[in-house]
Amino acid sequence: MRDTPGIGYAVPMLRIALPNKGRLSEDVHELFNDAGLGARMAGDRALSASLGGEFEAIFVRAQDIPEFVADGAADAGVTGWDLVCESGRELEQLLDMEFGRCRLAVAAREESGIESIDQLNGSPRVATAFPRLSREYFRRIGRQVEIVPVSGAAEIAPHLGIADIVVDLTSTGSTFRINGLRELATILESTARLITAPAASGARDAKKEALDALVMALASVIRARDKRYLMANVPRAKLEQVRDVLPGLKGPTVVDILDGGSYVAVHAVVSAGSVYRTISALKALGCEGILVTRIERLTP
Ligand code: AMP
Repeated sequence: MRDTPGIGYAVPMLRIALPNKGRLSEDVHELFNDAGLGARMAGDRALSASLGGEFEAIFVRAQDIPEFVADGAADAGVTGWDLVCESGRELEQLLDMEFGRCRLAVAAREESGIESIDQLNGSPRVATAFPRLSREYFRRIGRQVEIVPVSGAAEIAPHLGIADIVVDLTSTGSTFRINGLRELATILESTARLITAPAASGARDAKKEALDALVMALASVIRARDKRYLMANVPRAKLEQVRDVLPGLKGPTVVDILDGGSYVAVHAVVSAGSVYRTISALKALGCEGILVTRIERLTP
């Protein structure tokens, strides 16, 4: 138990389930670190840790996180949306973390000549580590299939003759291609999500407040990642044109420069992807001293 400032009474420290290894774990650590909630482990292989002294982390397999959160073993968790949907448990999504982007797709052997789902014959055997989502998908499109559950490396199954098609995760599609498989359809788009079990009819309690604060902290970091803070000295006479180039969050901030003469300083938040073009446009308007920095957090 601990005293929570602003709440005024003691609440148990919330437990957050995080992936212990695999694709998502590094990105999850980086995000919590950037939000000031870096994991302080007791040892290299610790199964739990303090997250910035605010939360307790438990490190478990990404596949197990939906169950742990749904059963109340953890108050919240971070895992792939594909795993949340496959679990079939009732869980609430609090935040899309925008990494671990992949899709669950149906694929068939290149040599089969099959290019779309409609060309599948009879009741094809489907090798997959996602039996629930696969069954649901084929039921929805009105196709009879036989599910062959595998725990991984489904892409080899058609070559071994134990399945006709596969349902598997991919991000670039290259694993399918390397294994001589052609994608036929997408079942689900996935990214890593922060999840919790649905609260009893809209209860506003200390747990909800702590989770809201966590969402705000993580969201501010995610939002800032593809933004940059840009400062430039701008000829006063060109301010109107500069406004078109630099919309900022609420229009650029204009600051007087001591002895700046005909120049003023302009500060604005710009998208990282357009910084290159923005700088060229500002240069063309006679701007000088252009400075671009990363933003740690952005809360509108
Ligand atoms: P892990 O088994 O621990 O590596 O975690 C697998 C999770 O990472 C999946 O359930 C997805 O949510 C996510 N992921 C992201 N990209 C991919 C990909 N290309 N292939 C498989 N999983 C991916």
